[in-house]
Formats: sequence, C-alpha cells, structure tokens
Amino acid sequence: MPIELDDRGRARENEHFHRKEQEIIAKMKAKIQEDDARRLGIKCPKCDGVLIEADFDHIKIDVCDKCSGVWLDAGELAQLVEKDDESGWFGKLFK
Ligand SMILES: [Zn+2]
Repeated sequence: MPIELDDRGRARENEHFHRKEQEIIAKMKAKIQEDDARRLGIKCPKCDGVLIEADFDHIKIDVCDKCSGVWLDAGELAQLVEKDDESGWFGKLFK
C-alpha cells in the first residue's frame, strides 16, 4: 500500500514543521517581549542604558542599568527632602 505509507510520511513531515513553527513563534514572542520592555523603559539621559524603577526608602527612583546613574523627577526629589530631617545628608544638601 504505497499511498498509505506516503500519507504517514507526509503527516510526520507536517508534524515536524508544525513543531519547528511553534519554536520559531515562541522565539519571536520572547523577542517582542524583550523589545517591549526596552521600549517602555525610559532611556538614560547620560548613556544608552535603560532606567529601571527602584525603591529607595519607599520612594521610587530611576536607576540606569548601564552607568548606574540615579534619576529623580521633581516630585520624587521633594519627597526625599521632606522625608529627610535636618541632620540627614539629603536635607543638608538643600538647605
Ligand atoms: Zn546611564
């Protein structure tokens, strides 16, 4: 029964390609997610790194993943100054 063998062979081939296809799709999805993370991240003003939100004393700050620069926006800076009393290094810096 040559036709039967043919069909079986073709089915196996299809399965092989289907699996390959799934692998490629999975890789593409991973790549897209990586790109999204990069795109959503704010670019460092100093280098081409990405700013990652970090928690400093319950205040969110942005830290660069490349140059380790720390970036604050106006609200975050005010929060830090407010939190710090006059004996703190940060309070002294702005008084
Ligand atoms: Zn940087």
